[in-house]
Amino acid sequence: MKKIIKNTITTVAALGLLAIAPMTMASDAGHGGDHHATGTTTATPQSTLKKTIEGNNAFMHDHASNHFDAFQAGQVPNLTIITCSDSRVHTQLFGFEPDNNIFAIRNVGNQIENSEGSVDYGIHHLPTKVLLILGHSSCGAVKAAMGDYSGETKGIKAELDPLQPMLAQDNGEGSFNGRWADNVERNVDYQVGKALELYGDKVQAGNLAVVGAVYDFNNLWGKGRGAVVIVNVNGENNPNIIQNHPVLDQLAKSDMITHVGSRVK
Ligand SMILES: [Zn+2]
Repeated sequence: MKKIIKNTITTVAALGLLAIAPMTMASDAGHGGDHHATGTTTATPQSTLKKTIEGNNAFMHDHASNHFDAFQAGQVPNLTIITCSDSRVHTQLFGFEPDNNIFAIRNVGNQIENSEGSVDYGIHHLPTKVLLILGHSSCGAVKAAMGDYSGETKGIKAELDPLQPMLAQDNGEGSFNGRWADNVERNVDYQVGKALELYGDKVQAGNLAVVGAVYDFNNLWGKGRGAVVIVNVNGENNPNIIQNHPVLDQLAKSDMITHVGSRVK
């Protein structure tokens, strides 16, 4: 019994380390950054689990039992999202309950290649009408891919290697932080291209829209902090053309100003 408890604590401690790891990746030395320092957490495995379960108590309190009736039998989401595992990015940023609305896939650097089967499931089997590839400002994975990560674990290297092709467009000119943000957008464009290789026939048939966007909590795209900025629709990445794209024709004109943009085009 004692041994089981010890193993459990070891596992929880390891999970705690995993939660801290992205912060380290996002704030590694050398290049500075325009984001606030992430610092170190004073949390312990015990305090983290306490907070987690208390949070679920509040969730249960706020959601009456009949809230769950609609999706007892299965899911019918309309949106597949591939986004980064970064703790600052989450599906609540759209302002609606993600329940039964969002089929979410997350990995470092919001990549298709690392999770192709999960994306296939969302597109072919559910099937959702929109595939949203959502990058974000201050992405530690993009930053790490721009540097020397040869000393990282086998697993991390395997997650960062697929980002290399999109970095070919980075000519190394300008500030590091500017290039970093530009590469976040280039990665979104690159992932949209990958998606079109896989699902282009559905897009052609009008059954799917592949949308690339950036969740910008640093205002690096100039649309305001917290804005989701659309940078690519079905492979079109010119913001002037995107604004007239039929897929966006139910958006208000003001939304085009706030939610369509680009740093690199
Ligand atoms: Zn990220």
